[in-house]
Amino acid sequence: MEELIETVAEFIVCCSKIVVFTGAGASTESGIADFRSRGGIWDKYNPEGLSFQKFLANEDSREKYWQMSTEMYESLKKARPNPVHLAIAGLEALDRLDCVITQNIDGLHQRAGNSREKIIELHGTALSVSCLSCGRKYDRDEIQKRIRNGVKVPRCDDCGGLLKPDTISFGQAMPEMETTLAYERSFASEVFIVVGSSLVVQPAAHMPLRAKQGGAKLVIINRDPTPHDEYADVVINGSAGEIMEGILRKVQEKIGN
Ligand SMILES: [Zn+2]
Repeated sequence: MEELIETVAEFIVCCSKIVVFTGAGASTESGIADFRSRGGIWDKYNPEGLSFQKFLANEDSREKYWQMSTEMYESLKKARPNPVHLAIAGLEALDRLDCVITQNIDGLHQRAGNSREKIIELHGTALSVSCLSCGRKYDRDEIQKRIRNGVKVPRCDDCGGLLKPDTISFGQAMPEMETTLAYERSFASEVFIVVGSSLVVQPAAHMPLRAKQGGAKLVIINRDPTPHDEYADVVINGSAGEIMEGILRKVQEKIGN
């Protein structure tokens, strides 16, 4: 494994456009369960019942959605950035990061120290809420306070429209701007590092291939094998935190020399 870490560190030092792509596995070491895994939130709530269409259609579904979402948010709030997030923030501090594309909604990249403009959130964020009618944005904590005070389905102060967290629900379109940007940055990247994604959900699964088409070196760091391992230049299976920490340390050594 040492040798593989060394190779990835060399890629990072030699190239300039480094894109990191993170999935649920990047946040598991922060204690956030993969929603899709056993014991995850989708075991307890039926995702079909929480689709965007149901949310729009009736008050009962909206109430259920906010219950689920409140439970999820409370666990996200307690989570702290782990060595994966800190290593990626470390790459930015060394000026070795073009951007981080994430499937996660937990805001941990930002809390670890990555600047907002370097983070592309493909599935939105749990940290804010928007009015579906007028687009007004609210801080999530402010809305959660209303829910703690007994409001079951919060509504917009300005127009009375439905409020919904800025996460992408089942049946809801992917954010167009973020998706387009993510594809562009993937294609333009020189090194594309997947961390903690099983690469089975679209469009995630496509990004590494896009990077490869653009000529990037592809690195996949995940606990388990992925369907795209055969296209990768380097595959490292193991603890994402330990591996990313090791890579950052090597990069620091090399740049320092
Ligand atoms: Zn509104």
